[in-house]
Amino acid sequence: MKAISLSVGDELVLGQTVDTNSAWLSKELASIGWDVAEHITVGDDKAAVASAIVRAAAQCDVLLITGGLGPTKDDLTRDALAVVLGEPLEMNENWLQQMEERFRRLSRVMVESNRVQALIPRGARMIPNTAGTAAGIDADFRSPAAKRPCRIFSMPGVPKEMQSMFRLTIAPELVATGGGRVILSRTLHTFGVGESSIGEKLGDLMNRSRNPSVGTTVSGGIVSLRITARESTRAEAETRLEQTIAECHGVLSDLIFGEGEQTLQSVIADLLTRDGILRVSTAESCTGGLLAKILTDIPGSSRYFQRGWITYSNDAKIEMLGVDPQIIATHGAVSEEVVLAMSRSARQKSATDYALAISGIAGPDGGTPAKPVGTVCIALAHPSGQFARTFLFPGDREMIRDRSVKMAITLLRYQLNGKTIPF
Ligand code: ATP
Repeated sequence: MKAISLSVGDELVLGQTVDTNSAWLSKELASIGWDVAEHITVGDDKAAVASAIVRAAAQCDVLLITGGLGPTKDDLTRDALAVVLGEPLEMNENWLQQMEERFRRLSRVMVESNRVQALIPRGARMIPNTAGTAAGIDADFRSPAAKRPCRIFSMPGVPKEMQSMFRLTIAPELVATGGGRVILSRTLHTFGVGESSIGEKLGDLMNRSRNPSVGTTVSGGIVSLRITARESTRAEAETRLEQTIAECHGVLSDLIFGEGEQTLQSVIADLLTRDGILRVSTAESCTGGLLAKILTDIPGSSRYFQRGWITYSNDAKIEMLGVDPQIIATHGAVSEEVVLAMSRSARQKSATDYALAISGIAGPDGGTPAKPVGTVCIALAHPSGQFARTFLFPGDREMIRDRSVKMAITLLRYQLNGKTIPF
């Protein structure tokens, strides 16, 4: 069973309002077993709304329209719907009375134009609005070109009104007619390798026809896998979802750092406090304190975060962390030798279990052929030694600094898990 959402409003097509109604409806529909095939957005134009209704209704079982049910001249959805259905608009006396009662209760005058909000195409059903004045419309339609009938629900655009109308009246109807299918989704997060590499590793797991399906999205360098199972019972969907998640873990192993709401820093917080408390300190150059900021984003981080140094200049590295000037002179401030010295000193001075150090060229200036912009050295001093790695991150200054911090946390995560970094 397929649904389509149609959002109506000039403010939406002009980009002044973001269409949150469709996103909200898609999530609600998925939770009751309905697939959403398309989101359509049109302006306040009667002909455009009517043609969108006809086109969409030919391709789905349920069409959910939001917006354009208000009392003003630019609210044209009910007129467009009447044209499509080939029926005149009729006053719904039941809703008119409820509206009059509502205005009386609020001691407000109901102007003539409000009466429009009780107009319903003949043969359609009125949907009460518990949060506003415009009645919703529930109509059956079969377009001449379509093989199947389409049920059309038209709701107000105001998110609060639309949401309560959907939950109270429409969702129960769709649960009853949706064949009881259950759609369950989970999201896994990876960091360290790009989306194409993740796609290659997942191979057939990402086949479009597969159920549960596996899809990827990228945000801030974090590649997330969305795994969605569509089954006739919740138990079956849960079992199949677990199987596919286990397969993804089998293929991607430690590249997966977390799930759902988890972040790199929340995972690190869990690891540092898993068996007793392990403490960490930071020594940063090009990230200017961002690593310390991210690590302390987590409430309760004072249990494991001890202190951080921002040693942006060479002098600061020498004076605050005791880095040997000769090392800087020989290898440059952006070098594995310097970050090793920074992390070793940070760990000693703060008496922590771990110390992370970062030095790099965030740009846009300062790059050389040997060390181009994006070159970042990261070191980790740990209870049994230390190591450093050099990375070349793409992008602008903000992106390079962001990836440096995420990579530093990732190096710590692998170390805490006793695993070898696979990239
Ligand atoms: P009203 O009775 O208030 O006129 P309506 O059904 O005519 O309701 P609109 O006039 O289209 O709805 O929109 C009312 C409010 O809801 C506006 O602030 C609008 O920006 C917001 N809105 C409408 N559609 C959406 C949408 N798809 N996503 C988010 N907000 C929306």
